[in-house]
Amino acid sequence: MGLLSLGTPLPWAEAKQYSDHVRQNGIVQFLNIWNRVKSRRRDKLYWGDEIEYMVVHFDHDAQKVRLSLRASDVLERLQALEADALARGEAPEASWKPEFARYMLEATPGLPYGSHLDELAQIEANMRRRRQLGQAHLRPGEVLMSLTNFPMLGTDDFLRAAFEPLRPTPAAGIFQSFFVPDDAITGHARFPTLAKNIRERRTGKVAINVPIFHDTHTPRPWREPCPPSLAALDAARRAQALHTPLCELLPDALEDHIYMDAMCFGMGCSCLQVTFQACRIEEARKLYDHLAVLTPVFLALSAGTPVFRGHLADVDCRWNVISASVDDRTPCERGARHNADRRCDAAVGSGTRFKIAKSRYDSIDSYLGPGHPTDGSETPGCTELGSHYETDYYRDAYNDIELTYDPEIYQRLRDASVDELLAKHYAHLFIRDPLVVFRELLDQDNVKSSDHFENIQSTNWQTMRFKPPPATSSDIGWRVEFRSMEIQLTDFENAAFAVFLVLVTRMIVSFNVNLYLPLSQVDENLARAQRRDAVRQETFWFRRHILPKDGNTREHFAEMGIDEIINGTRAAQARKSRPESPHGTPSSLRPPTTATTDDEADVFPGLVPLVHTFLDAAQQVTPSTRRTLDRYLRFVSARAAGRLPTNAMWIRQQLLRHPDYRHDSVVTPTMAYDLCRAIHDQVEAGVDTLGGDVPELEPLVAQRIPGLQLRHPSPQP
Ligand code: ADP
Ligand code: MG
Ligand code: MG
Ligand code: MG
Ligand code: MG
Repeated sequence: MGLLSLGTPLPWAEAKQYSDHVRQNGIVQFLNIWNRVKSRRRDKLYWGDEIEYMVVHFDHDAQKVRLSLRASDVLERLQALEADALARGEAPEASWKPEFARYMLEATPGLPYGSHLDELAQIEANMRRRRQLGQAHLRPGEVLMSLTNFPMLGTDDFLRAAFEPLRPTPAAGIFQSFFVPDDAITGHARFPTLAKNIRERRTGKVAINVPIFHDTHTPRPWREPCPPSLAALDAARRAQALHTPLCELLPDALEDHIYMDAMCFGMGCSCLQVTFQACRIEEARKLYDHLAVLTPVFLALSAGTPVFRGHLADVDCRWNVISASVDDRTPCERGARHNADRRCDAAVGSGTRFKIAKSRYDSIDSYLGPGHPTDGSETPGCTELGSHYETDYYRDAYNDIELTYDPEIYQRLRDASVDELLAKHYAHLFIRDPLVVFRELLDQDNVKSSDHFENIQSTNWQTMRFKPPPATSSDIGWRVEFRSMEIQLTDFENAAFAVFLVLVTRMIVSFNVNLYLPLSQVDENLARAQRRDAVRQETFWFRRHILPKDGNTREHFAEMGIDEIINGTRAAQARKSRPESPHGTPSSLRPPTTATTDDEADVFPGLVPLVHTFLDAAQQVTPSTRRTLDRYLRFVSARAAGRLPTNAMWIRQQLLRHPDYRHDSVVTPTMAYDLCRAIHDQVEAGVDTLGGDVPELEPLVAQRIPGLQLRHPSPQP
């Protein structure tokens, strides 16, 4: 969540008067950092994940699950543990942070992991430990769960309260939601202010509509019933609402959609993020670009959200929901009554400067390109394993979506010698207003602080984030954050995805792979990734030739299934031509002993075979680490092949098969209780995944890609 400053937050009417002040000083702060660290080099790979949990309370007598609002109390004690360890001069086991909802906790490793590949084998144990530490501070009946979305969030009586049930307050307060009480927001001043100022800036509540899953007994068209909280409204408005088929007091609710009206529906979801430090800015830019292409692929693989507000959805992911949940654009910015001269009718868009295509929580809008060393050096300057960026694959044609940016900020950055692409990136982030402005922090020392810069930067919640070094620390370098993944139910799954991603970054830089895809196609992929069962049903745009020998010359973008992208053409085709029996792999599916190159047969190599090839070449891991990594790769590969279900598919199956289910898309409290219980029991039993065992042998992905060499054959450990 970036910086959590303390102070007096300004209400929107006041805060907005300081928008320019924050932007102007924020850019000065960025330039101070830039001038200090633009040619910083020889940083090492550091990386770390972020896991978000929910505290779920089980009422076994009533067979009901609710969200517990005690996460904030627990957080204080967990943070005290962390502080104690630091005071003793020890590395804490975990680092804890507040999250938007009072039922959420975020935990990262106590310290980031380093570049030695053997460290990859430690993360799973650390994730288990974090879960234990958090769980140890809970009360009987309370359980720490890593669910992307609590299935009953926003249904009647979904929050555990000491006395009376907590009720939403549609006519007053912060959310003014029909479904979510304000009690769900973490008390820290930042969070309620964020929610309130988004609503006020937007001039109305956020509107989230998710297509409903139509089952045999789901009415067609399906329409939102009027919510019980209408009772809080006056009698005339209520009577009017109850007499219309589509509840009229829900003007934003669409037919055949599950309607949600509060920031909590999105920011109250949990996700898995991974941050990487690059050896210098050029490598960070390279990783930002190539990983951006992978954000939809990892979203589809990690899909875990088939239920919203107690209804089965026709999507499997949270992304569009969270995007809409913090969409603070004014009606004008969203396109209403926006004149040709780019001016907006004052009545609907006070404060509007631009027409803006996306929410501030959305996919990236421009690639950064590699940049050029500003100190005139030609040598890479990174000796670490897999660090180099000699080949410039970037082309302007890949930046093919409209980029709205602030021309004055752009010019300011250009005048300070920031190159065009990076200047456009920040001038784009800076089209947004700061949402939470603290009175005490209006005047800052722009050399020592980056608070104004972070204010804008960390409320641009995009699929990737480009993180400059902080203003004050001398030992943190340029980092990129991968932000699209959904949290997984088990520690094994979360570790597998985090580790696979780290290995993919090493593979990209070591083999100098080219993943560039026009951004319009990346956006199309992000939309497809969220659809129901996308791993097995959808295709995704991808670059067909990604290896260095023709990665730059053969511009061929094709639609491929996730299986082919992850496991390679050979594995995917073999599987298609002869479905595997449940009892092992038929001999005809064994991989050829000597694989041919992709050049020879238009064969896409697959990310997992490339990672295997990288690991072979790196020769840097102990056999025990390698066994652990192979197991993660088999898991990712099996999920990509559809042999293991995503969490979303597994959850959906459990609900569809529940004896109480009436085939009407409705998830009852008992169904939710049984589901959460089944998840918790299996997680506690220590299973790797809920949908089946990780295949012990997956010969199809044990392929190696010939002819690839590490750029730095003698890595420094
Ligand atoms: P944010 O919420 O802003 O994304 P967090 O501090 O919550 O940031 O998490 C960032 C992640 O980055 C953590 O896993 C942390 O361990 C990791 N990390 C910390 N320092 C570095 C570094 N120098 N390089 C890479 N990762 C780091
Ligand atoms: Mg978080
Ligand atoms: Mg964080
Ligand atoms: Mg969050
Ligand atoms: Mg983060």
